[in-house]
Amino acid sequence: MTQTINVDAAEIAKFEALASRWWDPTSEFRPLHDINPLRANWIDKLSPVSGTRLVDIGCGGGLLTEAMAWRGANVTGIDMGEAPLSVARIHQLESQLDICYLKTTAEALASEEPESFEVVTCLEMLEHVPDPGSVIQACADLAKPGANLYFSTINRNPKAFVFAIVGAEYVLNLLPKGTHEYGKFIKPSEMSRWIRAAGLLPQEMTGLTYNPLTKHYRLVTEDVSVNYMIRATKPA
Ligand code: SAH
Repeated sequence: MTQTINVDAAEIAKFEALASRWWDPTSEFRPLHDINPLRANWIDKLSPVSGTRLVDIGCGGGLLTEAMAWRGANVTGIDMGEAPLSVARIHQLESQLDICYLKTTAEALASEEPESFEVVTCLEMLEHVPDPGSVIQACADLAKPGANLYFSTINRNPKAFVFAIVGAEYVLNLLPKGTHEYGKFIKPSEMSRWIRAAGLLPQEMTGLTYNPLTKHYRLVTEDVSVNYMIRATKPA
């Protein structure tokens, strides 16, 4: 069977190059460390993950993957980057968590394990793939009827350009220059359209806002203008 691969090699290469510093909370991955408890708790509060089968799509070095395993989920983490997966596996030796890491795409796993997961997470990944709608469809296919799915990305508007690219990459140096491409950011309306097209129901959203003075992130329900997360459900 042939399959079109929905992977941007240049995007994978960016994460390969940085991977060794994934678990260093002072590194380029600091923003992910900072938001990790916020997003893990948001997910676990909306749909307690303990005892569920959960798949983390584009898991990178395993920050959310481990946080979900700590909360009692039976987790599979997938990524197309070799180095991030090696880092995730090495960190897992230390944390002794039971996680299955695989180098594959959401689309390929969906054809092997359809309707197998009660929770699907795909965070900070959709803005790095050629066809985000295809990843969302694959997430829908991986989900069991009644499952909860979580997506996060960056909104596309002038404020998001100023905060997520100019601010984060050029002024505050939170992220390496070139991490994000403005054209690949996703408006909540586009995200919701892909979610519905995949047969899922969009549920609540929350923004994740950064205060450069306090250097803290917060969940702000009413402000999805830059970073945001959305929950979707698969009809039972
Ligand atoms: N989800 C993690 C990591 C986000 S970084 C977190 O939020 O903590 C984005 C990750 O997506 C990188 O590890 C990159 O290698 C991965 N990625 C990009 N395109 C991918 C694809 N098509 N399939 C699987 N993983 C992909």
